[in-house]
Formats: sequence, C-alpha cells, structure tokens
Amino acid sequence: MTAGAVLTIDFEALAANYRLLCRQVAPARVAGVVKADGYGLGAANVARTLIDAGCRHLFVALLGEAEALMPDLPGDIPLYVLNGLMPGAEAQCLAIGAIPVLNSLDQVERWAALAAARGRVLPGVLQVDTGMSRMGMPADEIDALLAAPGLLEHIDLRLIMSHLACADEPADAANAAQASRFEAITARFPHVPRALDNSGGAFLARGHFDIVRAGIALYGGAPSDGANPMQAVIALDARIAQLRTVPAGTGVGYGLTHHVTRESRIATIPVGYADGWPRCLGNRGSAFIAGIRVPVVGRVSMDSITLDVTEVPLEHLYPGAPVELIGPHQTLDAVAADAGTISYEILTQLSRRYERVHLPAQARVPDRSSAA
Ligand SMILES: *Cc1c(COP(=O)(O)O)cnc(C)c1O
Repeated sequence: MTAGAVLTIDFEALAANYRLLCRQVAPARVAGVVKADGYGLGAANVARTLIDAGCRHLFVALLGEAEALMPDLPGDIPLYVLNGLMPGAEAQCLAIGAIPVLNSLDQVERWAALAAARGRVLPGVLQVDTGMSRMGMPADEIDALLAAPGLLEHIDLRLIMSHLACADEPADAANAAQASRFEAITARFPHVPRALDNSGGAFLARGHFDIVRAGIALYGGAPSDGANPMQAVIALDARIAQLRTVPAGTGVGYGLTHHVTRESRIATIPVGYADGWPRCLGNRGSAFIAGIRVPVVGRVSMDSITLDVTEVPLEHLYPGAPVELIGPHQTLDAVAADAGTISYEILTQLSRRYERVHLPAQARVPDRSSAA
C-alpha cells in the first residue's frame, strides 16, 4: 500500500535454477555468485537458499560485501572475494575470514607476506588471465610466480580460476581459445581445483572443470542468447495510480515528447527511474494489463510512468488496478532488451523502494539491506 510496486522474489525458483545448473555441469559443482547483494535480490537470503540446496562455495566482488554477508553464513562455507586484495586490505580480509581471489603477483606477494608474518598458511584463489584483460595474472606473472615457489608455500591454493569474455555467445571462437589457454596454464598447477565457467559457460558444449561460478542463471536471466532454460525468479507488479482520457493531440509527460493521435486513455503508475526503471524506456518500453500490452508513452519520470491503455477493456482500468512490469507476459530479459541493456543491469538496479515479497513466505532472514 505504501510502495510504488511489489517485487516478488521466488526463492524456490532460485533453488530450482541451482539444481538445474548442477545437473547441467555435473560432475562439476556449482558455486553461487552473490555479489551486488545477490544481484539485487538480497545476498543473505540468496546465500541461505543456495546453501540449503547444497551449494558449498560463494563468491562476492568486494571485501565489504564479504564482511556484510559473513555473519549470515555457516562457518564451513568458503566466501571468495572476486576483486581481490587492495593494498592494505590483507589483515582485514583475514579478520573477516574471506578468501581472496589473488589477481596479480603483487596480491599474491602481499597475502603471502601476511601469512609469513602470522606464521600461517592462508587460503587463496589464483585468477589467471586467459584473454579478457580484466582481472587475473598475465602470462609473465604466472612464470614469475612459479619461479618463486617460496611464495606459494604460504598459500593454500583452493582454486585456480579465469573468466570468459564471450560466454553468452556460444559460437564465439574466444570461448574455445580461453578454455585451451586455461588447460595449459592450470596444468602447471597440478591438483588445484579449476573454475572457468560462469552461467553462459555452463551451457557451452564441453566439460566444466571442477567448479562453475553461476550468477545470472540462478536469478532467472538467460545464460546466453537463445531460449532461456531458467525459471523466472522475480516479478514486478505496480498498480494504476491515476487514469485520464485525453483528446487527440494532447501531449504527455516531460518535454511533451508524445502526443496522442486519437482520444486516448492514459494510466499513470508510481514507478520511475528512481526505482531502477530505465529512463531510456520512455516512448519505448511497455507494461501489461490483464495480459494486454500497453506502451509507455512520454518520458519515464523519477517516480512515475505514463501508459497508453486505450486498448484495455474498461473493467481492468481503475485506480489500484494491477500492472505487470516483469512477469509472465514481459520477462526480465525482454525489459533489458527494450532498454538496450542486459538483465544483470535491470536486476542490480531494482529499487529499495519496492515492497519486497519473498516466496515461500516463511523461513527467510530479514532483508537487512532493504530495511532502509
Ligand atoms: C559476475 C561473475 C560471475 C558470474 O557471472 P554470470 O554471468 O552472472 O553467471 C562469475 N565469475 C566472475 C569472475 C564474475 O565477475
């Protein structure tokens, strides 16, 4: 009643997606990527759901994310930090109990130095660059690391990983090139478990090494172009705030960028770009009322959108009437495509202003991050 729209998060669908991925990549195991607050859905609840479903490895991007999530995790679940170790963050990482992904020789050296200073062997993940030029050790650093074996004496290498640049385009030759580079590099680190694939990689027609780091597919986004085998996890439903009938020629919204060409009914809904509904969907996106597509007309405002509902039977048009923004008629990926972006961005921008409904209703920890 007090929010502009209701975001429903189906944790049973999330668990089903986890199980589908497990079957898809077996005998490899599936790790959950819960960075960016579980792609916007609440990292603690996502993590708990995945752990209940059997997941034993979790990844976040930032040390701060690890710090926030750690109290909600059982002690035996390793939490890896993808973005690695900023200079000076080593002791904090150890205190938090997170396992850093060591992305450069410099990061290995600093983690090993802390281990030596504490007289311990510390767990770490090694990331190598197989062709994306983002995170991970380039070839010369890998050579240098192996030439200085004293360094690795202080580190318990739990995993060696790399990341695919084009996994969402299965036909791209870069996928095979990265996999063969990964094979060659990891052969130099015998007995260390290997992880290359993300959601898209999980659907490439080859083996999946030891661990797959799955994000978007868990959350219901399409792992690659083509049919989406995953279950939808979220639904977003607004309600009509106001209705009006305007004569032909009337302008709508900021800048009067739309003029109706016939007498039209316009519905205003209380969702806007401050809710993460992209402003670029002005005069472009759509919503659904009673299964009927209603186009966005005029610009997306901060707190509202105007829809042309002229085609909708009057019985479905009244203040408070339901409006589907994401659901059975309009998928997350369809919204992303209309906005010229990807499902990841739509998910991670979903507003804290929405009322959040969790399915099933019971057994969820309070979503602390959305309490504000
Ligand atoms: C975000 C991320 C993932 C998860 O990718 P999805 O495409 O969402 O499955 C895996 N590995 C790394 C290194 C990432 O940054």
